Amino acid sequence: MSAAGDVAARATAGFRQRYGAEPAGRWAAPGRVNLIGEHTDYNDGFVLPFALPLRTVVAAALADDGRWSVWSELDDEPVEFGPAGADEPGRVDGWAAYVAGVVWALRAAGHDVPGARLAVASDVPVGSGLSSSAAIEAAVLAALVDLGGLDLPADRWPRLAQRAENDYVGAPTGIMDQSAVIRGRSGHALFLDCRTEEVEQIPFDLDAAGLAMLVVDSRAPHRHADGEYAARRKSCERAAKALGVAALRDVATADLDAALARLDDPETRRRVRHVVTEDQRVLDTVELLRAGRIRDIGPLLTASHASMRDDFEITVPEIDTAVEAALAAGAYGARMTGGGFGGCVLALVDADAADAVAAAVAAAYADRGFTAPHTLPVLPAGGATRLD
Ligand code: ADP
Ligand code: MG
Repeated sequence: MSAAGDVAARATAGFRQRYGAEPAGRWAAPGRVNLIGEHTDYNDGFVLPFALPLRTVVAAALADDGRWSVWSELDDEPVEFGPAGADEPGRVDGWAAYVAGVVWALRAAGHDVPGARLAVASDVPVGSGLSSSAAIEAAVLAALVDLGGLDLPADRWPRLAQRAENDYVGAPTGIMDQSAVIRGRSGHALFLDCRTEEVEQIPFDLDAAGLAMLVVDSRAPHRHADGEYAARRKSCERAAKALGVAALRDVATADLDAALARLDDPETRRRVRHVVTEDQRVLDTVELLRAGRIRDIGPLLTASHASMRDDFEITVPEIDTAVEAALAAGAYGARMTGGGFGGCVLALVDADAADAVAAAVAAAYADRGFTAPHTLPVLPAGGATRLD
């Protein structure tokens, strides 16, 4: 994870080396974390992600032959495809499917996508739950829209990038990742209603408050994450059906106890309790942030973690260890972020305590014999953009 200037330079160097020419421009899109609101998206509820200062950069230029070439520093081999490759999901596979998927989604929406050469470099760790997938989609989308002069306002980008990932790559994600990396704004979190897709920028200026968010990559191996995710989703759908609501978002906090009393299965009751209380925690967090009370969201973050650990049962020992160590070292609040069974932990800390909290987490990991975590202090950053 190096500075943004380096990643842009790597994209340019890759472009020059691969294509023997200068790129016409460079476009960047960030990774993201979800501040709070976990497993609420597919229950039609609320999430509150923010964009990270870690970015994926695409150096690109038009290609005369109407084809697409893409190279990434993650893979020596460049990938090439023509219109046929972008006509049908599945024609391009592996990592380049994220790029072909964007071309495909644009074409499916009726846009005349220009052929292009692309070189990708990234500081967003891949597969850690920081959404390197949305970052590459958004950076490629921004490049192609600009290079082709396409008439596509940015508020329509998230859906398009999501289509690329859902229908071309075949990964069933919601709209959160793409919304966060495209619409994120420096010093803000993005409040997203997953039912209406309405978004609102919520002030979250950690820097001005003397705070920082630590992102701890737990390095925990993802254990059965896909199957467990599907099981949680099914459980929520069944519960909504049993309760006679379209989605668990429709269970009001005030009605939670009555709803739980109508469910026989204790596990299902725990799942429902997580989702309903988590939606409420997102709303409470938004209220506190609107009032400028950033430190006061700490207990909500920690309560969210307890709910994921005890009710939704999606945490693992590395993750719980990181949360406990961060809290013991003085974090205002800490929680796992992302779908679970690995991934990252967030800890809200005083900026000048960031190093001490990171050291405490590392020490707790060493005690338990876990692979050392990667920890990085971050501030909310801006979304997809052209660099030059
Ligand atoms: P996450 O989004 O949490 O990082 P995903 O599994 O959703 O994890 O997406 C990771 C995949 O996205 C990678 O395996 C790769 O196929 C693709 N990808 C992301 N960033 C890059 C990149 N810079 N270069 C090539 N492929 C990338
Ligand atoms: Mg992803």
